[in-house]
Amino acid sequence: MRQRVVVIGGGGTGAALAHDLTLRGLAVTVLERGELTSGTTGRHHGLLHSGGRYAMTDRQSAVECVQENRILRRIAPGSFENGGGLFVAVTDDDADQRDEFVDACAESGIPTRLLSRSAALDAEPGLSPDVRLAVQVPDATMDAMRLPLRFFATAQRGGAVLRPFTEAVTFVSNGRSITAVVARDHMAGRNVAVPADLVINAAGPWSGRVAAMAGAEVPIRPSPGVLVAVTGRWCTHVVNRLHKPGDGDIVLPQRGLSVVGTSSWTVDDPDEVRVSSEHVRAILREGMRLVPAVGAASMRAAWAAVRPLIGATGSDASGRTLSRTFRCFDHAADGGADNLITITGGKATTLRSMAEATADIACAKLGVTTPCRTRDAVLLPHTAYYTSAEVGA
Ligand SMILES: Cc1cc2nc3c(=O)[nH]c(=O)nc-3n(C[C@H](O)[C@H](O)[C@H](O)COP(=O)(O)OP(=O)(O)OC[C@H]3O[C@@H](n4cnc5c(N)ncnc54)[C@H](O)[C@@H]3O)c2cc1C
Repeated sequence: MRQRVVVIGGGGTGAALAHDLTLRGLAVTVLERGELTSGTTGRHHGLLHSGGRYAMTDRQSAVECVQENRILRRIAPGSFENGGGLFVAVTDDDADQRDEFVDACAESGIPTRLLSRSAALDAEPGLSPDVRLAVQVPDATMDAMRLPLRFFATAQRGGAVLRPFTEAVTFVSNGRSITAVVARDHMAGRNVAVPADLVINAAGPWSGRVAAMAGAEVPIRPSPGVLVAVTGRWCTHVVNRLHKPGDGDIVLPQRGLSVVGTSSWTVDDPDEVRVSSEHVRAILREGMRLVPAVGAASMRAAWAAVRPLIGATGSDASGRTLSRTFRCFDHAADGGADNLITITGGKATTLRSMAEATADIACAKLGVTTPCRTRDAVLLPHTAYYTSAEVGA
């Protein structure tokens, strides 16, 4: 009998966990309350970070991003549009940060290339005429849903059971050990008990709620941000502003659209998030300073997603100073259940490494010695998600 791991949360983190744990020989079930990737993952900006955005202010996150950027390109060929990224100075103050930025990138392992004003405009003609200089980095873009689907497809082919529309509602315990997760199957309209030797809480901004089901606490600070899509691809690069991360300072192409983002604030309830017209206006105003055409283009959509940042309740009202790194919590150590682990924080770019760190802890607890193989195992295409269950059966 293979040991059974139940993963709660079918976002990018849950997807990468299902893949990692399946490769290590465990019997994995993923419970997702909505459609797969219907939480934060399916609504993010679509930026495969080079780490440049965090190099000056959040070094650990910058290093994690550049390392994973390289690995993901290797294991998910064809999933990224490699237009590259530009950090663009549009004021003298921005230009003054050039050396600090380039040094911080070098110390984080992020390759850069300095472009003069004219070289920047040649490379990206849609840039503002205010551009002083630009620094090129290996950013790329991706489809927010399709990359995680590649992990899900590969896990499913390996035997993982994926249960969308199935919401974990409570735990059945024997002493300090969880023996089953009781979940509401929203399709069938009934509760099911899913037996577990170990449970991983990968519920992103909802991970505080899931941990509370076992009487455990995690210092999670849900931090929403608004994104705005306008019609037309007004740039081919990921255009970032050369300054410390702020609102409306990234414009990138996605299919026939340009997506501008984002803003940042903190909330107590990740389900209570509104898109305010004030944020939309501010994002477009700032985005226009980088790529003026986005200001004149017709707006196609505006939406919000919630970052699962690590931070105590009440800390930092904007969420900007909270790190984008991730943490695993083994609840055996903090009074929760002995066989419950929470993974939270991080980025869509770092989904694989988040899963590796969590799966290492899970395997140590279960006595499994099989090493992680996800750095090199090439993923199935996203389309295999729709067929891999039948093929694997
Ligand atoms: C505006 C914005 C833009 C961003 N842009 C980028 C970007 O361009 N690049 C990048 O790398 N990162 C980006 N991020 C960060 C990235 O989107 C997140 O870090 C990542 O998607 C989190 O994935 P996750 O799987 O941990 O969480 P989620 O995707 O939220 O997954 C958690 C899942 O748990 C499910 N769930 C909750 N409760 C239960 C329950 N009781 N039972 C079952 N399921 C449950 C939810 O429905 C959800 O699907 C952005 C974030 C925001 C907010």
